[in-house]
Amino acid sequence: MIVLDQVGKTYPGGVTALRDVTLTIDAGELVSVVGPSGSGKSTLLHLLGALDTPSTGTVRIKGADVARLSDTDLSALRGRVIGFVFQQFHLALGVPAVENVADGLLYAGVGQRERRRRAAEALDRVGLAHRLEHQPHQLSGGERQRVAIARAVVGWPEVLLADEPTGNLDSAAGAEVMRLLRELNADGTTVVVITHDQDVAAGLDRQIKVRDGQVLS
Ligand code: ADP
Repeated sequence: MIVLDQVGKTYPGGVTALRDVTLTIDAGELVSVVGPSGSGKSTLLHLLGALDTPSTGTVRIKGADVARLSDTDLSALRGRVIGFVFQQFHLALGVPAVENVADGLLYAGVGQRERRRRAAEALDRVGLAHRLEHQPHQLSGGERQRVAIARAVVGWPEVLLADEPTGNLDSAAGAEVMRLLRELNADGTTVVVITHDQDVAAGLDRQIKVRDGQVLS
């Protein structure tokens, strides 16, 4: 699904965040990327999700070299193949859950009614069928993250990339979010979870350990 070959990333200003990273993520995997703060995890996630391009080496997603894709193809890849979940949820405030989720389909070429219908379905998948009209401030942290997950998967992406998805949650809500990610994986979605939390990583099938910009194992 995703292949990194000798990937390096140096930011403008000269910080080298990743060096010589080679790894493969197969379709259907449930993987954690684990390492301390500053080790390069978010940089790696940005490359895995085609949000950024490497300074050296190649990133292939479903066989396509990300650095060689046109802007249109890149948008299509990010919009249809990959779903993103972030620690801070990134929900629109003052907007009902169902509309937040429907926004995940803005580029899917479906009408507003159909977007809402699918959004309601996705919220049902994450156990929030009873919260469609609730706004973010009316939801708990765990519920907000589940809305964000519904938004990420409403278009049935093949890959779900989650950056510290439990970072802002108490342990019970975090466990619920991890259970949900495992469920989505069991349904066929490739799931990559970035975390600094060894316990979260240990609960997944495979761990990619990152330290000082390099993959240790
Ligand atoms: P992690 O997610 O493991 O905390 P990051 O990938 O965010 O690590 O950061 C790795 C290194 O790259 C850090 O030294 C960080 O300061 C640096 N870095 C991250 N993003 C940028 C950026 N946009 N510009 C410059 N340096 C960055």
